[in-house]
Amino acid sequence: MSSIDPPSDAVPLGPKEIVKSGLCIGCGACAAQIPGNAARMRLDRYGEFKPAAPSRRAESEMPGFAHICPFSPRSHDEDELAAERFPSAKHRDPLIGRFEAAYVGYVREQDFRAVGSSGGMASWMAAELLDRKLVDGVAHVVPVAVSDDRGDLFRYQISRTTGDVRGGAKSRYHPVELSAVLAEIKAWPGRYAIVGIPCFIKAVHLLRMQDSLLRERIVFTLGLFCGHMKSARFVESFAWQMGATMEAVESADYRLKDPRRPANWYTAQLRLKDGRTRSKDWWHLADGDWGAGFFQNSACNFCDDVTAETADISFGDAWVEPYSSDGRGTNVVVVRSPLLHGVISGAIAEGRLELTEVDSEFVVRTQAAGFRQRREGLSFRLSWPRLGVQPKKRVAPRCRGLPARRMLIYWMRARISAWSHRMFWLSRLLGTPRLYIRWARAVLALYQAITYSRGWLGAMVGAGRRDEDENG
Ligand SMILES: Cc1cc2nc3c(=O)[nH]c(=O)nc-3n(C[C@H](O)[C@H](O)[C@H](O)COP(=O)(O)OP(=O)(O)OC[C@H]3O[C@@H](n4cnc5c(N)ncnc54)[C@H](O)[C@@H]3O)c2cc1C
Repeated sequence: MSSIDPPSDAVPLGPKEIVKSGLCIGCGACAAQIPGNAARMRLDRYGEFKPAAPSRRAESEMPGFAHICPFSPRSHDEDELAAERFPSAKHRDPLIGRFEAAYVGYVREQDFRAVGSSGGMASWMAAELLDRKLVDGVAHVVPVAVSDDRGDLFRYQISRTTGDVRGGAKSRYHPVELSAVLAEIKAWPGRYAIVGIPCFIKAVHLLRMQDSLLRERIVFTLGLFCGHMKSARFVESFAWQMGATMEAVESADYRLKDPRRPANWYTAQLRLKDGRTRSKDWWHLADGDWGAGFFQNSACNFCDDVTAETADISFGDAWVEPYSSDGRGTNVVVVRSPLLHGVISGAIAEGRLELTEVDSEFVVRTQAAGFRQRREGLSFRLSWPRLGVQPKKRVAPRCRGLPARRMLIYWMRARISAWSHRMFWLSRLLGTPRLYIRWARAVLALYQAITYSRGWLGAMVGAGRRDEDENG
């Protein structure tokens, strides 16, 4: 537990305080609790979802807010939720939490692997739950039609057929929010599964503790490992750098699969409304270095859950060799629900899944950079003075004893995140994409020099000094 005490219940804590303190991830769990207001989440000027004009009135209509918001210091943490959900888990690990078993591999049957971002396991699991009639619907993220009134590229949808689930495969590094699907779950009796990044899954469990209807209807949670959440400006910047405007973009694929290339060489592809496509490798984009933190939501600075520790099952990418070089994509899977463990074991025995059991050390290795940022980096960030609501995390603040270069990396990453929002906003306002792109290229060169990761500057500074995975 953190040594920062949570504020007492006497101090007001509503959406307004969380937003002002940079702790709102935009999940929509709070908006879902306001009757008749399912669509109250709005994209702000930085392209991030926030509860629209969170007023005092709205807060008084949300008495449970402080216990629902995943970044509220008064809500239960992941350890507490997982202890309640998985009391007799076979394994416990300080980094990946409680679990029954962990695997590395992919889906053998049909085209789940080919159409998925990684090994196709997330869509397979969701489809299997429907096939076995364990759920009536799966809430997950799908591309939206051009006509969508909010102009979003992606949104949560409840899929009720395996075809619709498969149609939603692929990772969307783009803001989405849960309020509309939670309203739909409340309105339509049935059993549901929800796919989400760790903080969204945490929010769902916090809601389930408060709301008996959601507790009864949401019967499975499928987590995605998470590095951080991006704003809607991420794809807009890609469009700028591919010579297109956002208005011309119909859809985006963040990770176009090419079995001939390593899985971690991401290619983004935009489909334009005139039918043409534009593609570029992330490495050639000014903000395509994931570790630099461009457009990261500020709440992610205060996250300590990489593997969705409260989900029944979680899926990530196997970012270690030989898997990261296999362009077909390979998952790491952490199973926490004994029931789902049975389903997975049965499918392995039938040859439908190609999964090999691994230990927690392997899973941690696949996410080494993410864990550094969410443990060592988080403890350093917690030591910085800040105004507003103080986050309560499972690591203690610490600024001593860290190598100076590591501190510089964490500091630089936080600055890049914060300034990318502002610089993009300014460039947009002035109608000069060049301003943002030049700034982004300059700070990226600096970041990569510090991390010795790439570019002539990084190569020069880091010559002969690469002794660890410096990207994170
Ligand atoms: C923002 C974000 C950050 C991530 N960071 C990491 C990371 O650091 N390390 C790592 O190993 N993996 C990370 N992942 C997970 C990874 O990208 C893959 O989603 C995961 O490996 C599952 O791949 P798959 O082939 O099994 O999934 P698929 O079969 O492709 O299915 C993906 C499922 O997730 C749903 N989905 C897509 N985007 C979202 C979203 N934004 N919110 C909720 N549901 C969504 C889809 O609708 C689909 O049902 C991240 C994912 C996201 C969305």
